[in-house]
Amino acid sequence: MAKIIDGKLISAQIKDELKEKVAKEHIKATLAVIQVGNDPASCVYVGNKKKACEYIGIGSRSYELPEETTEEELLDLVDRLNADDEIKGILVQLPLPKTIDEKKVINRISPDKDVDGFHPQSVGRLCIGEDGFVSCTPAGIIELLKRSGIPIEGRECTVIGRSNIVGKPMALLLLANNGTVTVCHSRTKDLKEICKRADILVVAVGKPKMITSEYIKEGAVVIDVGIHRTESGKLCGDVDYEDVLPHVSAITPVPGGVGPMTIAMLMVNCVKAAGF
Ligand code: NDP
Repeated sequence: MAKIIDGKLISAQIKDELKEKVAKEHIKATLAVIQVGNDPASCVYVGNKKKACEYIGIGSRSYELPEETTEEELLDLVDRLNADDEIKGILVQLPLPKTIDEKKVINRISPDKDVDGFHPQSVGRLCIGEDGFVSCTPAGIIELLKRSGIPIEGRECTVIGRSNIVGKPMALLLLANNGTVTVCHSRTKDLKEICKRADILVVAVGKPKMITSEYIKEGAVVIDVGIHRTESGKLCGDVDYEDVLPHVSAITPVPGGVGPMTIAMLMVNCVKAAGF
């Protein structure tokens, strides 16, 4: 029987641990959350992040800016928050309107307040094995594996996807945990054959139910990062869950797998930004 990795439960445990730590060590931190425009998905994510702050006992300050906000105005706000001692973490909800250069905005956030772990300095630190802020989704996946008792060391780990926020940091983290790592992308040849070698397969391809049992080695651990809404309104991942389930030793469901971990790890980064 496959183990269903319960991200909801593990993320709740992490938030409870943080809540206790914040209270016990009198941690004072405020997260600044900036949203430009009112994309409905972004509104849900921002709302959940603010709720998580409240739950663990740290502050959050909201900046809801209109769609017409200019790049200069946004950069000015980031500068002000960088200089504000009360603000320990700055989060700019992506995607930004097309008129604003996302890279420029991310690069402007002080690396000391980069709780999303997207700043080049944070990525560089991860790459050379120095302590720093790590992108929340891949950090959450490592936590899921560890807390589920799944060893990484010495195992064949394959990541499908090489985005800056999921695929690349995921590969670096698996490597840092002594996995033998392969990264696949849209130009990869023989994707099925490569995936079939994996003991741990992390799927961040962004294509609903693309990964079927044909890609899976018997007994593999499958981590599904994808999140999509089907025409019938149900959520699904990048993995064809029903098809793959009989062949795996452990798997994350969608919803309730990787998704809840992203916010829990954001809270870990906020507490870290406060100096703890
Ligand atoms: P991107 O679209 O940025 O990256 C997708 C990656 O998959 C790219 O590297 C692309 O390759 C690769 N790819 C696309 N098609 C194929 C193919 N046919 N074969 C092999 N590789 C392919 O997505 P993200 O990394 O941002 O996100 C991935 C998924 O995870 C999405 O479904 C997203 O919604 C979800 N997500 C979930 C989060 C959560 O909290 N649960 C957080 C972030 C993302 P190439 O580089 O060559 O184009």
